[in-house]
Amino acid sequence: MRGEIIAIGDELTTGQRLDTNTQWLASRLTDAGVHVLYHTTVADDLRANVDAFSAAISRADVVVTTGGLGPTADDLTRESMAAAAGVPLELDEVSLAKIQEMFASRGREMPERNRLQAMFPAGARPIGNEHGTAPGVAMSVDRPGQGPCSLFALPGVPAEMKPMWTDSVLPAIQTLQPAPRTIRHRRLKCFGVGESHLEQMMPELIARQREPLVGITVHKATITLRITASGADEAACRAAIAPTEDEIRQTLGALVFGEEDEELQHVVLRALASLGQTLAVWDAASDGLLVHWLAQADPNGEVVLSSEVTPRLQRGERAASSAAERLRADRGADLALVLARGEIDLPVESVVVAIAYEGGVRLRQIPNAVHPDINADRSAKLALNELRKRLMGAE
Ligand code: AMP
Ligand code: MG
Repeated sequence: MRGEIIAIGDELTTGQRLDTNTQWLASRLTDAGVHVLYHTTVADDLRANVDAFSAAISRADVVVTTGGLGPTADDLTRESMAAAAGVPLELDEVSLAKIQEMFASRGREMPERNRLQAMFPAGARPIGNEHGTAPGVAMSVDRPGQGPCSLFALPGVPAEMKPMWTDSVLPAIQTLQPAPRTIRHRRLKCFGVGESHLEQMMPELIARQREPLVGITVHKATITLRITASGADEAACRAAIAPTEDEIRQTLGALVFGEEDEELQHVVLRALASLGQTLAVWDAASDGLLVHWLAQADPNGEVVLSSEVTPRLQRGERAASSAAERLRADRGADLALVLARGEIDLPVESVVVAIAYEGGVRLRQIPNAVHPDINADRSAKLALNELRKRLMGAE
């Protein structure tokens, strides 16, 4: 089933408010087995709304909208829906009574405008709203030559929209599915190469028509591979995901460092803890990120004996190497990790990672001339990744 989400409101199209409803709905529609093809955002403008609704009805089998259900002149969803479906608006007495009751229970008289919230396109059903005055609207629009399009209009207020989705819309969508489908995802986290390089290493796996589908996204130098499988139930999805996961792990080897929400620091700290080893850190090249991440992941200092930002640490490999040895001895740690800036006269900006251990120092100078927005993140991750490789015995 093809899906579309329409978010309605001037506050969204003018950039005053971030459209979080669409993100929330998109992930739930996807989990329900709907293939979401479009996110549309439209201003509080009748013509634009009718156009958006008409387009959505023509190209999607399920359309979920948020916003524009209030009682004021800029709330145009009911009217637009009716116009796009080619039916008139009609008063629903039951909904009107409920709205009047709601006002009465608060000791207020219903303003005349709120009558509008009891108007529905002919043939539509109200969707109950426990947390506000405006009921939602559910309707089915016949389309010549294709099956009907199911429309669900929900309020923009997230606290009203979410329970209405869960209580009414999701169950309705599940009954529309020919065979109920479950969708499951598995995320593998990678670090150490660029995304295009990684894609080249496994071209067949990234193919768009593949089942299960493998998607690739990059965020601050960490690459996430997302495997998406659909099946009759959760077990079927897991069974479909497993061979693809194995293939990725075999192809990428140590480039895969973790899964789901894991970050490098979690993996490194877990490895240290299981080896019973302690760590001391000096960070002169990640704007304190390395120290911050380690403190968050090991708040009681069980593994990280000390971790400090040391902006005045000298540049270069020699300085980093001797600093790591000194730090290890000073703190009595099993390992010392030093992240320093590279020599200033090199052709490209680089960082130095020195890891002192019993009997030696592992030293790497790594170019880091990427975008300034991610330099600090990448530096901290390079340091953690070198430590991870050392702990894994990967090189
Ligand atoms: P409406 O249902 O259009 O009257 O919207 C009511 C309120 O819900 C707005 O003033 C926003 O604060 C919020 N809202 C509307 N649409 C969204 C959206 N797409 N994402 C997040 N909040 C929204
Ligand atoms: Mg609005």
